[in-house]
Amino acid sequence: MTKRAGVIGHPVGHSISPAVYGAAFKAAGIDATYEAWDTPPETLEGRVNALRGSDFLGANVTIPHKVAIKDFLDAMSDRATRSGAVNTVVHDGEKLTGDNTDVAGFARSLREDAGFDAAGKRAMLLGSGGAARAVALALVEAGASVVYIVGRQPKKIERVVLDLKPLTPAGTTITWAYWGDGSYLKMLRGEANLVVNCTPVGMMGTSGAGQSPVPAELMQPEALFFDLVYNPVETPFVAAAKSRGAKAISGMGMLVYQAAETFKLWTGQDASTNVMFDAAKAGLGA
Ligand code: NAP
Repeated sequence: MTKRAGVIGHPVGHSISPAVYGAAFKAAGIDATYEAWDTPPETLEGRVNALRGSDFLGANVTIPHKVAIKDFLDAMSDRATRSGAVNTVVHDGEKLTGDNTDVAGFARSLREDAGFDAAGKRAMLLGSGGAARAVALALVEAGASVVYIVGRQPKKIERVVLDLKPLTPAGTTITWAYWGDGSYLKMLRGEANLVVNCTPVGMMGTSGAGQSPVPAELMQPEALFFDLVYNPVETPFVAAAKSRGAKAISGMGMLVYQAAETFKLWTGQDASTNVMFDAAKAGLGA
């Protein structure tokens, strides 16, 4: 029986995950397909329940469902519980388990693609959704000295900080600021060693396409700028940082590394990250 997997999100039209997983399944000789399941919030429960069919390996979960999906699953892995977000559902027998491979995917890309050691560094996150939770956890685990989260909804950001505080070791401060009051500018202009865009701003096919979440003139050349957005290949945030002479990378490496982790959870096999990178680049027309 051909196995099925896919991505649950809204929107998902521009996802390159079908190309990335399709190539990896083919290279590994696994008879499986990968689909893009556009899932408005009111249809999320039904979509998750459909994964209980015997032909389903599981699903990836993307914007805006990474936090809300927990309510419809049977179990959570340790890293999904710790981050408070799910980017992978594993269908194992009767059970649907939420997992989070974004944490390891981000940590690996930061280390291997950007050559950045977060230990003792001040990190600033733009956005407070599911991906920001994974990034914050990765930075806490890497021993960052400050994890500073900026967002639009004070109650929501505070919840992220409260959830992560018990996991934060002495020597790491996790805190937040409201985007609207401008207090984050001091951090952005001078203190942050790492700035991570955890919003969809700049993503092709959305209302924020072509925009950087922060203007180039506020970006310091000494900092590293990491955009979770990977479409287009050179995102507006990356282009703005580079125009200031700063080092910047997009989310393509993270996409591939988290997908490779998910592939292993679904199939028990290692994926070829080279095959996945080639498929991702081809999918983006690079
Ligand atoms: P999410 O849970 O919906 O969170 C999005 C966050 O961005 C929320 O905090 C939201 O604010 C904020 N936001 C949205 N539009 C904004 C705007 N115009 N201005 C300021 N803030 C805005 O989504 P997510 O799952 O965290 O994903 C975020 C992005 O990361 C997406 O583009 C996703 O594709 C990308 N991502 C990439 C990878 C990768 O492997 N490269 C992995 C994970 C995610 P509110 O809370 O106020 O709504």
